Amino acid sequence: MQRTVRWATCAYQYHKRRVEETGSYSALFPIVQGSMFADLRHACAAELLELDAPGYAIGGLSVGEPRSLSLEMTEATAPLLPRDRPRYVMGVGMPEELPEYVARGVDMMDCVLPSRNARNGCLFTSNGRVIIKQARYRDDPGPVDPVCGCYTCRTYSRAYLRHLFQAGEILFAVLATLHNLKYYLDRMRQIRQAILLGRFRAYLDVARSSAVE
Ligand SMILES: [Zn+2]
Repeated sequence: MQRTVRWATCAYQYHKRRVEETGSYSALFPIVQGSMFADLRHACAAELLELDAPGYAIGGLSVGEPRSLSLEMTEATAPLLPRDRPRYVMGVGMPEELPEYVARGVDMMDCVLPSRNARNGCLFTSNGRVIIKQARYRDDPGPVDPVCGCYTCRTYSRAYLRHLFQAGEILFAVLATLHNLKYYLDRMRQIRQAILLGRFRAYLDVARSSAVE
């Protein structure tokens, strides 16, 4: 954790110098570390706040620990970070986990899951996951997700996508990734909408009760 703070301090000195020299600006978020120890997370956040960064990341929470612990550490860290700047949790998560992190004060997340699962034939849909290699989709003329407006769902059937996957055709990875990314973006759009309408608590309740494995 102390090494992280030293790195962040060095990086910030360099970053500021670069901005002054070149006039070009990009945001640099320090990363709050501290493993699964709330006191270390607190100490780390306190030190990094002195950098007065435009946003803060919460790191080290997608490294194989139980999800409940990841959420617990997020809950312990997010409130320490400025309310008027983005809070970004690194490396999460499954679609059903997104509202859980948002509920704990998180604005941004990133993850390999939508694209990696897509390449492996796992598609996220409003009715749960579609494992495209399953024989039940062999002659299925329907779209991956009937309520999805992505190019893949508007254009191709499950049967065709399954054929592409079984044939090892690279086009499958492209089409499946397109769909999964749209699914994630739609999910975050719904969350933003619910917050704007003051209905996030209700959204969270529904998301929890309909979470699928
Ligand atoms: Zn789609």
